[in-house]
Amino acid sequence: MMRIGIFGGTFDPPHAGHKKYADEMKSKLSLDKLIVIPTATPPHKTRDSFSSAEDRLRMLNLLFADDAGVEISDMEIIRGGKSYTYETVTLLRGDYPDDELIFFIGSDMLFTFHQWVNPDVILDCVKICAVSRKDDIGEEKLEDYIEEYFPKDKERFITCDFDPIELSSTQIRKAICNGESVEGLIDEKVLKYIKEKELYL
Ligand code: ATP
Repeated sequence: MMRIGIFGGTFDPPHAGHKKYADEMKSKLSLDKLIVIPTATPPHKTRDSFSSAEDRLRMLNLLFADDAGVEISDMEIIRGGKSYTYETVTLLRGDYPDDELIFFIGSDMLFTFHQWVNPDVILDCVKICAVSRKDDIGEEKLEDYIEEYFPKDKERFITCDFDPIELSSTQIRKAICNGESVEGLIDEKVLKYIKEKELYL
């Protein structure tokens, strides 16, 4: 049996917060494999300041180029339309019937989890691993949420001690657009790609 992590997101662009999350959980949870799944371009995010599915796939491939066991999947991009997590994890459950699947989310996403489409289907297919994105959100706040909304499914959630990098893709897009430095906030190869393709200007 393999233990497989699944990391979904827009990744526009992928940044140091995403990388830290992926790296730490890979070792803490002893993952055999991590599947990173960028969403299809959402219809409301078609403005010029957002990058294409192809660019996001390229940036993720650059970011994880040296990481054995990381697979970048285009399954949501190929499916197109709005990327519903319950559909994605149902497909993955079919591909990996006997393996342990753990879906990674940040605290911002956890706190909306009860409003996602079909959270019960998601919890049937995968465990949810949640970490803090902000210094003032500790593990207890994550556990309080789970206790309040999913008391019967507590064992389907994993919360880990995590020292967050307070950073978002929105912040990076804004900084690049304003000509501010994003050094240290984003991988060098990814930054080079962004500059070459003149993204987020
Ligand atoms: P945007 O600013 O465009 O909304 P984002 O920075 O929130 O983007 P996403 O691609 O939406 O990034 O995030 C993908 C997943 O990674 C989500 O589950 C999100 O909670 C998590 N995540 C994003 N940034 C961090 C961070 N700094 N630390 C931990 N988890 C993060």
